Amino acid sequence: MNDATNRRHKFPFINCTNCGPRYSIIIGTPYDRKRTSMKDFKMCSNCEEEFCEIAERRFHAQPDCCWVCGPIFSLHAIGGNEVKTNNPIVKTAELLRRGKIIAIKGIGGFHIACDATNRKAVKRLRYYKNRPTKPFAIMVRREDVEKIAHITDEEKELINSFIAPIMLLKKKKTVICDKVAPNNPYLGVMVPYAPVHYLLLAKIPYLVMTSANIQDEPIVKDDREVIEKLSCIVSFYLSHNRAIENRCDDSVGISIPHKGFSILRRSRGYVPVPIELPFSVKPTLAVGPYLKNTFTLADKREAYVSPHIGDLDNLETLRFFSEMVTKYKRWFRIEPELIVHDLHPDYLSTKIAHDFVDRTAFNVQRIGVQHHVAHIVSCLGENMVVDDAIGIAFDGTGFGSDGKIWGGEFFVGNLYNQKRVGHLQYLPLPGGDASIKKPYRIAIAYIFKLLGEKYTPKGVASHEVRTIMNMVAQDDSVVYTSSMGRLFDCVASMLGLIRAITYEAEAAINLEYQAAQGITTYYSYNIQNTEPMIIEVKDILTGVAADLHKGVSPRVISAKFHNTIVQFSLDITRKLSKIHNVRKVCFSGGVFQNRYLLNAMISTFEDARFDVYVHRKLPTNDGCISYGQAIIGNIISGKEEVESDVNAKL
Ligand code: ZN
Ligand code: FE
Repeated sequence: MNDATNRRHKFPFINCTNCGPRYSIIIGTPYDRKRTSMKDFKMCSNCEEEFCEIAERRFHAQPDCCWVCGPIFSLHAIGGNEVKTNNPIVKTAELLRRGKIIAIKGIGGFHIACDATNRKAVKRLRYYKNRPTKPFAIMVRREDVEKIAHITDEEKELINSFIAPIMLLKKKKTVICDKVAPNNPYLGVMVPYAPVHYLLLAKIPYLVMTSANIQDEPIVKDDREVIEKLSCIVSFYLSHNRAIENRCDDSVGISIPHKGFSILRRSRGYVPVPIELPFSVKPTLAVGPYLKNTFTLADKREAYVSPHIGDLDNLETLRFFSEMVTKYKRWFRIEPELIVHDLHPDYLSTKIAHDFVDRTAFNVQRIGVQHHVAHIVSCLGENMVVDDAIGIAFDGTGFGSDGKIWGGEFFVGNLYNQKRVGHLQYLPLPGGDASIKKPYRIAIAYIFKLLGEKYTPKGVASHEVRTIMNMVAQDDSVVYTSSMGRLFDCVASMLGLIRAITYEAEAAINLEYQAAQGITTYYSYNIQNTEPMIIEVKDILTGVAADLHKGVSPRVISAKFHNTIVQFSLDITRKLSKIHNVRKVCFSGGVFQNRYLLNAMISTFEDARFDVYVHRKLPTNDGCISYGQAIIGNIISGKEEVESDVNAKL
């Protein structure tokens, strides 16, 4: 591409058999040009020759093309005409340098781009996208990564691989404006992975490149959607005439000590490569959870986990879900005989599972699986652990088999059988989902319930505090939860770190970033030796409140709080290990995206000589659920005497 004498000099669709798109352009199988969105581009004789020459690197590279026969880019004003220019990519770079916000068509969808060093542009993008604080990913040239962030050799290898995920790297103080990832020690960085990216970055080196979508809808993939959905955000769009058949977001990865990498979002570069199952299963569709949904279509030893679908709470995401299920069934020729879903009766994914079974005339079995059991079994499964292990699931929300909301859970068991043996104390969740959006409500409820005190966070009206206290006092009207995510919300609010969140887990993330390194102390706690064991929260909150009162810095309090979780987890695990004679421990759940906690848990448990297993192939968040569902569903389905809601007995 950079060779001025080559016939593909600066050609934005250059590729070979080892690179270039595949998943995003495929219409049907087997993978052949006539079944891809390259079908409308007839190869010129030069390309045809390369394509047929066995010694050529382009031998049977289905999307192969050139300036003569390939697709072309064009630049458009939103709601206006095509911009007349002989080089739309260079023109785009020029507009970006002038502070414009532009949608750019890539491999799996559009990005929204702006100059990452231009504070005004980034602030404008935040305002238009209605996204006040959630970090934006940036794209920089390979040689510039080290200028803006710390990167290890291992991380370099992954970021420079064909997967080219967004990597969360420790940021350096640089020209990247602070609004890109405010109050955040990390930067989501990716390097160019399509020719158009290289050509753009040659003209403007630091770009915000955030998925083009509104709110939590799927990534936008064609011009019509850009015009329909992004006209309030971007002023231009750089597009091309090769259709994106299958949307696919950028994948996101982090490195973890001793364990290599963990994936937070598994999409482009990973899908649709199957993940091996620990045993052979019948044709199965596991529809996944509600947030960060993926589904899994499985057969025999192979689990085809879908790309990141998103939060199943809007019509667009739902459509994307159905579209991908249909495609996956066709591509992999799997017609499910078993549908697995979450226990939550109101989840859209649960309803989909019901509909699916209703629509199918015969013999499709439907099975509900508890969320955190799915977490643990997913982690055991991808690690091929078949014997007994202790499972720790720290999470935001999952419907428990006792009707309460779980999320701070300890299990003992294996793939075939999980027993809940410990959990965080049940505490009231006044107003359910409303308090998840406003974490201070959790603090008010927990403090009142446990310490009997009235707690009025700064800026909260006293009638709101009273309402919450009344709800807590009238015990039977509130939902109860053992969620670890909510405990983070509570402490984050006590430290005054957040009022209302603008994206999922924001309070917990703020609390993580506060934590000072090098602190080893923790708060005292009490564990009830019941069955299941219960971790009491009262002493922990008393400790936090006392430190706050003494004027201890939030950085120290946060570290002590994190250390407390590590400590009681180790404590319980030691007890369970003795009783059940188990040395393997696995961690799953969204809370383990917290790197301070995950790192401390791994090193503490390994020092205590436990064998620690974490997610490596699947996200530790709810992106792993469908894979776990597929495994348990098959186990339950194999035992004919058990009812479909067997999880109630787990
Ligand atoms: Zn050609
Ligand atoms: Fe979860």
